Amino acid sequence: MYNFSRRVTRIKRGNGVDNMQYDHIVIRYGEMSLKGKNRKHFIAQLKENLQKKLFEFPDAQLYKTRDRMYIQLNGENHEKVMERCQEVFGIQSLSLAIKVPNDLDEIKKGSLYALTENKEARTFKITTKRPNKQFPHGSQEMNQILGGYLLSNSEGYQVDVHEPDVEIRVEIRHDAAYITSRKVPGAGGLPVGTTGKTLLLLSGGIDSPVAGYLAMKRGVSLEAIHFFSPPYTSERAKQKVLDLAQVLTRYGHDIKLHIVPFTRLQQKIYQYIPEGYAMTVMRRMMLRIGEELAKKRSILSLTTGESLGQVASQTMESMNVINEVTNYPIIRPLVAMDKLEIIDISKKIGTYDISIRPYEDCCTVFVPKQPKTRPRREKIHQFEDQVDFSKELQEAVDGIETLTFKEEQTATENKFDDLL
Ligand code: ATP
Ligand code: MG
Repeated sequence: MYNFSRRVTRIKRGNGVDNMQYDHIVIRYGEMSLKGKNRKHFIAQLKENLQKKLFEFPDAQLYKTRDRMYIQLNGENHEKVMERCQEVFGIQSLSLAIKVPNDLDEIKKGSLYALTENKEARTFKITTKRPNKQFPHGSQEMNQILGGYLLSNSEGYQVDVHEPDVEIRVEIRHDAAYITSRKVPGAGGLPVGTTGKTLLLLSGGIDSPVAGYLAMKRGVSLEAIHFFSPPYTSERAKQKVLDLAQVLTRYGHDIKLHIVPFTRLQQKIYQYIPEGYAMTVMRRMMLRIGEELAKKRSILSLTTGESLGQVASQTMESMNVINEVTNYPIIRPLVAMDKLEIIDISKKIGTYDISIRPYEDCCTVFVPKQPKTRPRREKIHQFEDQVDFSKELQEAVDGIETLTFKEEQTATENKFDDLL
């Protein structure tokens, strides 16, 4: 966690840094730089996603150079902009920066500001890079000049080249020099929209929103589907799902949520299918409907919050027979995670408090006392063959109601610098 503060302390007077402040954010791409031919496409998508994020900050301007992007803040609050950018996948790290002309005195002042505005720091290191070879001082020489300047114009700081509290990077480019500090991690992953779309089976629980978040981390954009069984599940249970979808827009910008009226189908399942098998059949129905919707919407995969061994429907045997009804790839980002790890992520991404609101979902209402943890495939086939579900399935698909969520253009309170 970093603690922003504009208070300049422990600085000797008269150095002309009083009117300095961070005026840029430097954005470094992560893994994207490895992606060969796709690189251009990925960078364009990242730029678009960042641009949408910056909607809230009309004066901020985004521009890109060959290997970086910069946000020129033009007076927008650096703290808030930085936090919002940390929600954007495809960014490896971000730093606050001061842009100064390629002039030694200006670079000195900028470096002194970058050091002394950080109240907690005791030790520092300067790292200069000089892509602009016309600048008269070499990088090593600059390190020494600036180090000496900072030591004699501040109090209480020492140089530590191995483990400094603050590393001040000075990059002398052709257009100007950028002085950066306060490097923070980005969200990592790939820009949302670069690897296709998935249909997330979104319940009101803890797991599925986290699964959606992690799918988006790999560059996937989301649509979500929720199976709703009124009056067995209440409007408040549905509201949870709407609120979860809204939170997920922080990472995916727009999310369509398809709500399936599931009551009739569920009632029929519980009427005709032996109790121990009802849940397995219900899950198969969810996948059938999910696949049908995905097909209609040209979506190529489904995503669930399943985690191996967590509950009866998530044993290897259950997953095998449930999965049988679809050839679509099912992305299960949580398959190998422990509940505590999942909870940890859900807290950091802002879905936990919504997920733990105590309203039942459609599965808990109908949950049989003893669901089979090892359902047998032949039995399922036998039971499903005896009942004609086609009418109820069709009604469920025809009754789908679709809502579109867009990112709210307000700053969030969430901070998750140390996420993942
Ligand atoms: P979650 O916390 O996501 O509800 P869970 O641990 O409670 O997961 P299950 O209830 O067995 O597990 O559900 C497994 C997965 O099936 C969920 O993660 C979700 O992807 C999907 N799912 C369950 N119920 C629904 C529902 N009503 N609508 C949409 N998807 C659902
Ligand atoms: Mg659940």
